[in-house]
Amino acid sequence: MVLEFDLIQAFFQRQVADEDLSLGIGDDAAVVSLSPAEQLVVTTDTMLEGTHFLRTDSAEDIGYKSLAVNLSDLAAMGATPKWFTLSLSIPSVDRAWLSLFSNGLFSLADRYSTHLIGGDTTKGFLSICIQALGTVSAGRAVTRSGAVVGDDIYVTGTLGDAALGLLSQQSQVGLTRDAARACELRLRRPTPRVELGMALQSDAHAMIDCSDGFAADLEHLLSSSNKAAEVWLEAIPMSSAVGSWVATHHRWDIPLAGGDDYELIFTSSAEKRKSIEALGMALSCKISRVGKITNSDATVYYLPDGQVLDLTHKGYSHF
Ligand code: ADP
Ligand code: MG
Repeated sequence: MVLEFDLIQAFFQRQVADEDLSLGIGDDAAVVSLSPAEQLVVTTDTMLEGTHFLRTDSAEDIGYKSLAVNLSDLAAMGATPKWFTLSLSIPSVDRAWLSLFSNGLFSLADRYSTHLIGGDTTKGFLSICIQALGTVSAGRAVTRSGAVVGDDIYVTGTLGDAALGLLSQQSQVGLTRDAARACELRLRRPTPRVELGMALQSDAHAMIDCSDGFAADLEHLLSSSNKAAEVWLEAIPMSSAVGSWVATHHRWDIPLAGGDDYELIFTSSAEKRKSIEALGMALSCKISRVGKITNSDATVYYLPDGQVLDLTHKGYSHF
């Protein structure tokens, strides 16, 4: 399997001497200095028909999600979303589709007062590429690389709902009607944790958003920080639908390796536990402490009975 990260490293990552570039390739977003006080945070993500959505999916959901995945990367840096650009490729002019797409897009943009400031429109396969721009006070962006040995590891929300929603949508799993609706909603309408990401600027040492699967994204944070972790599976937050899937299948790949959660994974020192708990309450965002940072050679996942889980498949890869 070729990892997209190997390709980026081989062909695109170069040594850059630029004192205004604070953080380049390799994190959830790049950070560049605009003035001594403020920095610009930049990220981009593409959504392709067949890979990220189907022609039959609702255009409103596609519009919403195209922006949501970008806002999630800004959230993972602790940035305030400000602007975005939209490069749209469409096979034909379908005004009804475009109207729904733009409704979904702007419903989320308006919620975070982020403005569309440009883009490009072409004819071709249906593809949506959004670049989101945000700001942070100088030096305040939360990177993937700041985890410290002994830090608590937290994750927001619940894990695996979107992956189970995808199985449900493909009729590969039988869920109750309510569970199917809830999981499919998480797949179509992920919640970017924008307010929490911004609020974590002072408490989080390292942060990443969870888009490819918890284990894969935690691994990215750990390798950037040059650390390992222990993770307690009994603490992994799951909806009852995902919890019963795990119990029935005796497998953890839906919550640990399922993609599209768009939750935040972050680390913080033990002294901040009260403050993190208070943030979760204030922002009505479930935050679970699921492990701690270690300096061992490898990350260990402990099953609820204390045994070690052998996790071979950690997450989604495009190639
Ligand atoms: P995320 O999942 O947070 O969106 P990715 O896994 O897509 O991040 O990318 C990892 C890092 O590689 C990011 O810093 C991203 O900006 C960078 N990256 C991805 N593709 C390219 C590319 N073609 N050229 C330069 N940088 C890239
Ligand atoms: Mg990310």
